[in-house]
Amino acid sequence: MTFKATLEEANKILRHANKETSAAKLLMLHFCGLEPTDLYLQYANEMPPSNRKAFLEAIRLHVEQNIPVQHIMGYVYFYGYKFIVNDQVLIPRFETEELVANVLMLYDDYFRDEVVDLVDIGTGSGCLAITLQKEEPEHIKAVATDISESALKTAKENALALDATVEFLCGDMLEPLESRKFDILVSNPPYIPQEEVVESIIYDHEPHVALFGGEDGLRFYREILSKANTVLKERSIIAFEHGYDKAVELQNLAKKYFPYSLIYTLKDMQGKDRMTFVITGFEDGKERIR
Ligand code: GLN
Repeated sequence: MTFKATLEEANKILRHANKETSAAKLLMLHFCGLEPTDLYLQYANEMPPSNRKAFLEAIRLHVEQNIPVQHIMGYVYFYGYKFIVNDQVLIPRFETEELVANVLMLYDDYFRDEVVDLVDIGTGSGCLAITLQKEEPEHIKAVATDISESALKTAKENALALDATVEFLCGDMLEPLESRKFDILVSNPPYIPQEEVVESIIYDHEPHVALFGGEDGLRFYREILSKANTVLKERSIIAFEHGYDKAVELQNLAKKYFPYSLIYTLKDMQGKDRMTFVITGFEDGKERIR
């Protein structure tokens, strides 16, 4: 059987089970140790039987037991970096890569060439803090917090494997930061409303502490915004990922705690409101401090 025929076979199984066919390509690359371009070159060739067996077994596991492909492989690529994942951390999502790109642009706009202190609240796999530090190794000094010891263990493994310099602190939200001050605060806190029904592939395999954000999904934004002034320098940036229907409420919360700031929301690639930024040190839309 060729690579192509095997991929088609897997796609058929996935479609039949109402699953995304993107899983097949990811698993095939993984089990054959191929890069995406190699796979196209190999398409018409015979797939080694042992690889084919392992691949189809993984497809079966994904379909029958609903195990996320990222858990079968043990990693996911995020912003081009390979992150170890397991059931103790949220699987990094594509939307979150967009948050990284925007934070890097804001760094350039407001702090270009300055050394800044950045904190990532609820770091999970470490994907935000680690990626931002890797992208600006000379300029971003990163600290990351999480309430879960086991998530931090994975985040530390990721920092080590990716050779990133991040200081990890265990504790609830801003609590472990004490009197430290930061220029940039990023967070993708748990934001699914408590009672919302979640697909079983997520509900059964990802840590609930990383998913649910209280009754309205805003619990952790309230928690962070109400105390953020204690950990931020005067001119600073707050960057949040959030639920697609929460932009207005979140902006209002941000206004309440940071009346002298520029606040705006951006859509993700799906066209949904997904990220809100608070730039402090503004008054009436004009920069107050500089
Ligand atoms: N910061 C991590 C991420 O963006 C974890 C987020 C979380 O656990 N809610 O993937």
